[in-house]
Amino acid sequence: MRKPLIVGNWKMNGSRESVRALLLAITANEAVGCDRMVCPPFVFMDMAAGLVQQSGVGLSAQNLESHEAGAFTGEISAAMLADFGCSHTLVGHSERRELFGETDEVVAAKCVAALDGGLVPILCVGETLAERESGETESVILRQVNEVIKIVGVEGIGRSIVAYEPVWAIGTGKSATAEEAEAVHKLIRNRLAEESELVGEKVRILYGGSVKPENAKALFAMKNIDGALVGGASLDANAFLAICDAAAR
Ligand code: PEP
Repeated sequence: MRKPLIVGNWKMNGSRESVRALLLAITANEAVGCDRMVCPPFVFMDMAAGLVQQSGVGLSAQNLESHEAGAFTGEISAAMLADFGCSHTLVGHSERRELFGETDEVVAAKCVAALDGGLVPILCVGETLAERESGETESVILRQVNEVIKIVGVEGIGRSIVAYEPVWAIGTGKSATAEEAEAVHKLIRNRLAEESELVGEKVRILYGGSVKPENAKALFAMKNIDGALVGGASLDANAFLAICDAAAR
């Protein structure tokens, strides 16, 4: 039985004041039957770690650098994140792939760095609108997943979380339907199960792309959807908590 997980990706938003208010509102609410996690910008991580203490709300980074240390100006390593109370990190978010040129190889290297540094990678995969319209969804998703499996192996992917985020649904207000999302989640789970039935059964696969309180219940009713990676709606405590409620089992 996979416990649902809701992850709030705050992207490059917030101030000391707004982060504090958001975390106070989220942690004041006790979640039952659902794991919760937020991804603050790096500069707020220390403050966030203090505010989530003993609340059960976890901390994830939005990104990390694949090297351990050294001359990588402006970058943050897995060890630094772990030192600041982070247990997870997003890897390969479509904005990183599109805007910062992260290739499948870079994404795989970042997954290795996360796993070696004691963090759980939340591997983001997803097709663009053009890829979906030209019937390439399955091949794109499998290529992205396979590249990581090739490098981290079955053991590594078994210690990871996967997030299916169709690029055309991110920040657009246009979510995939529950059925569209479930078809891709099933594809990913079957691919993991080819490596190991146990891994296929236990790895959590989150959906991301315009999840809101209004569409959350239908998505979470799907067999292979184990929660959500939430962008815009996670900046509103009431919306985030309503999505967590919808996921609770
Ligand atoms: C995201 O950035 O991962 C995301 C899913 O954003 P939104 O919920 O705003 O579509």
